Amino acid sequence: MLFMDYQKTIARESSLHGIGVHSGIKTNLVLKPADADHGITFRRVDLPGRPAVRATADAVIGTDHGTTLGMEGGEVRTIEHLMSALSGLGIDNAEVEIDGPEVPMMDGCALPFIEMIRTAGIRELTEPREIISLPRPVYLIESELFLAAFPADELRISCTIAFNHPMLRSQYLSLPINPGTFEEEIAPARTFGFYRDAVGLLERGLIKGTSLENTVVIGEDNIFSRGGLRFPDECIRHKILDLLGDLSLLGHPINAMIVAIKPGHDINIKLVKKIRGIINE
Ligand SMILES: [Zn+2]
Repeated sequence: MLFMDYQKTIARESSLHGIGVHSGIKTNLVLKPADADHGITFRRVDLPGRPAVRATADAVIGTDHGTTLGMEGGEVRTIEHLMSALSGLGIDNAEVEIDGPEVPMMDGCALPFIEMIRTAGIRELTEPREIISLPRPVYLIESELFLAAFPADELRISCTIAFNHPMLRSQYLSLPINPGTFEEEIAPARTFGFYRDAVGLLERGLIKGTSLENTVVIGEDNIFSRGGLRFPDECIRHKILDLLGDLSLLGHPINAMIVAIKPGHDINIKLVKKIRGIINE
């Protein structure tokens, strides 16, 4: 662990509301300041006893088209875009109160959450911030998927995605991650999905809240998105957004070179658990 810089929380409460992309359920979400070493916690205020859980990889109970945290008698799904925004802006401590099972999808990217954090203001605490540095490289291979983290002086992500689809083949992007690059290059990138997968996902009880308001839909010969694509390679930027949200479940920021080939929530969480394993050795 490195100690540089100071922990941060938000200055005051801020909130938003919207519809969950998978559940289709409307929720209100309130972001509250928290003390040093609290981490990010999610609390279900609509359930008896208002159960809460700290957002770490150990609390993950699902990775099917989103990352789901479980707590006593409840769950909160699709936490990754909010977590990405919090870690992207360097917020170490906050409590997220939510009155339903899923974080609102908003427009499918991290900007609405960044706006919520900006509205709340960022407050520096007096306690130092722990930054994870790796003692050695860590990697995972699952057929064509590959994820690795190498020791480095800053956080950098090099990502490749590849699909067998006429409108989306492969994309590559490598960039250092700091609040500036996160907000400019990653946060605006929206969720995407393939039109040909939609029926199957609906049959599995997913994407009930999907619309062109929150998802870039890739058809066989056309891409449907509100206002056109925000970047020519918006898809890979969103994959990096998701990966950063999952990486934040380390519980602390990390300085590492992350190499990701076809990342996804399941392998992302496995990498986080593997990193947590070696730093606790
Ligand atoms: Zn996403």
